[in-house]
Amino acid sequence: MRQLLSLVAIIMALLVPQSLTARTGVTYSPGASVFTIETNNDAQQVKLRIYKDGLGGKPVKTVNMKRDKAGNTLWQASVKGDLKGKFYTFDVKYDGKFRGECPGIWATAVGVNGKRGAIVDMGQTDPQGWSADKRPAIAAKDLILYEMHHRDFSIDESGGFTYKGKFLALTEPRAIEHLKTLGVNAVHILPSFDYASVDETRLNEPQYNWGYDPVNYNVPEGGYSTDPYKPEVRISEFKQMVQALHKAGIKVILDVVYNHTWNIDGSNFQLTRPDYFYRKNADGTYSNGSGCGNETASERDGMRQFMIESVKYWVDEYHIDGFRFDLMGVHDIETMNAIRNAVPQDIFIYGEGWSAGSCAYSGDLAMKANTSKMPGIAAFSDEIRDALRGPWDSNSKAAFLGGVKGNEESIKFGIVGAIQHPGVDYSKVNYSKAPYANEPTQMIAYVSCHDDMCLVDRLKASVKGITIDELIRLDLMAQTVVMTSQGVPFLLSGEEMLRDKKGVHNSYESPDSINHLDWDNLERYPQVMDYYKSLIALRKAHPAFHMGSADLVRRNLDFLPTENCLVAYHINGRNVPGETWDDIYVAFNAHKRARTIEVPDGTYTIVCRNIKCDQSGISTVKTKGGKVTVPAQSALIIHN
Ligand code: CA
Repeated sequence: MRQLLSLVAIIMALLVPQSLTARTGVTYSPGASVFTIETNNDAQQVKLRIYKDGLGGKPVKTVNMKRDKAGNTLWQASVKGDLKGKFYTFDVKYDGKFRGECPGIWATAVGVNGKRGAIVDMGQTDPQGWSADKRPAIAAKDLILYEMHHRDFSIDESGGFTYKGKFLALTEPRAIEHLKTLGVNAVHILPSFDYASVDETRLNEPQYNWGYDPVNYNVPEGGYSTDPYKPEVRISEFKQMVQALHKAGIKVILDVVYNHTWNIDGSNFQLTRPDYFYRKNADGTYSNGSGCGNETASERDGMRQFMIESVKYWVDEYHIDGFRFDLMGVHDIETMNAIRNAVPQDIFIYGEGWSAGSCAYSGDLAMKANTSKMPGIAAFSDEIRDALRGPWDSNSKAAFLGGVKGNEESIKFGIVGAIQHPGVDYSKVNYSKAPYANEPTQMIAYVSCHDDMCLVDRLKASVKGITIDELIRLDLMAQTVVMTSQGVPFLLSGEEMLRDKKGVHNSYESPDSINHLDWDNLERYPQVMDYYKSLIALRKAHPAFHMGSADLVRRNLDFLPTENCLVAYHINGRNVPGETWDDIYVAFNAHKRARTIEVPDGTYTIVCRNIKCDQSGISTVKTKGGKVTVPAQSALIIHN
């Protein structure tokens, strides 16, 4: 036993300095707080300042930090006394000049606007019952993602929320009941870490931003809390949100933006380790693969480690279930694989497999085409999205939904989940001329997200003279393609209530009047919500629509010969584990007139047609001569 203990001590001694390197910042205890920061080799001095408040006032204490003996990049200071409730900053000197105060890169609590780190007893931020909180067990193939922005979701009066635009809105019965009724089982929340573009000292004024401008990566955003001045409030409220969603069986997925920071000069990265975290071009300028003025260097040990530790921290401290990587294509694949391996397998990881400009990195980037080199990581399919709604570089061009031919193979690509499938002619796919996924769960199927026009606006802009009836038909058909895809389906919040953004395609800082959900639409267009929830229920109840295995999809899904603007396939349900239907036929007809598909003669139950979806059956059809009618601008799902 003694030997075992000493072994443990040796292991601990080996481990502790590593974790210290990885997660610097402050370690609180009532007797003393230990501060640690990592700098570049050439740092000359580090000042630690302690403050009473998160903003303003003079420091109550200033300490010269000491270089760690073991290395010359770590600096430490131990401050005696109970510092709970106090704030701190680091100020690092290079070339004879202090670069400016900041909370460092590892603050886990901050004051208003994230200017100063805060000393919080994290254990006291846990809501009651938090230790019993568990991530809901939902396999990747069974996920139904719902992308939402806190303010969009709950700010409008029509929603009737108490905590409008706050984390706590997602704890309210109205929110939970809506999500459960709809049937989604994972909310993907737009950036919810501390970002810059909403001034937390002016929350009484209407301010809006998506939040893709990171400041403190490991702290919840203050603008979504009821009191951004009290550091523990945002932490506790975020946990209450996660807890309420978990109780309802809904996962929480965080949108993470490690690929760039709000700015370079004032960023916590740059103030502590100048030029270490960013990629530069050969001419010394900063590379801009993010399109936001800078791009981080995930291939560097310190940045890679930061990303890994940050993700692990959100999993451990906040019980986060998954991560959506913004511009994942800016990161290198080694880092993405290291992140995948650093968190439990049930943590769902996906991202945008592209960048917004060229990156100053010569190795393999986590682009969509490299998805097969990143097992357990998924990428958004712009193939299926643009084949349905129209290309991303235009707001008015139509595609399949608008009756434009030539998009059929791209839709088939999305139906199989971007895997190798003998029924897809890859040479005719819009973007990927080869499959990119090993497994269908490596593809996100969607027709709209926060970027670009939402579905209603795009249909209005691209389909000439569209009527409300036609708009609803096409909307429902589009989501039927998504919800029956073998990839992981993804909905933009509010599509279920026929949201629009008044035609604004980039609403990142548009007012609430553009971005808000109008909850009264649930009563205006009840057929839309009815269809969406029935469609999701159908997917959940039938493994044929989410087989989760490339082999199963290849063996049991075959496409029917069709014409332009008509896509149809058959699933042999007998060979799909857990499936109760034998032969399933799915068809999408974008023509303004009915078309037919060929099926073996028999009697089939119709579960989806026109603007109705009901897995228990709408009616039956007895075929003669092997033909069944697919109504105009409609999906059709039948089975025997
Ligand atoms: Ca903020």
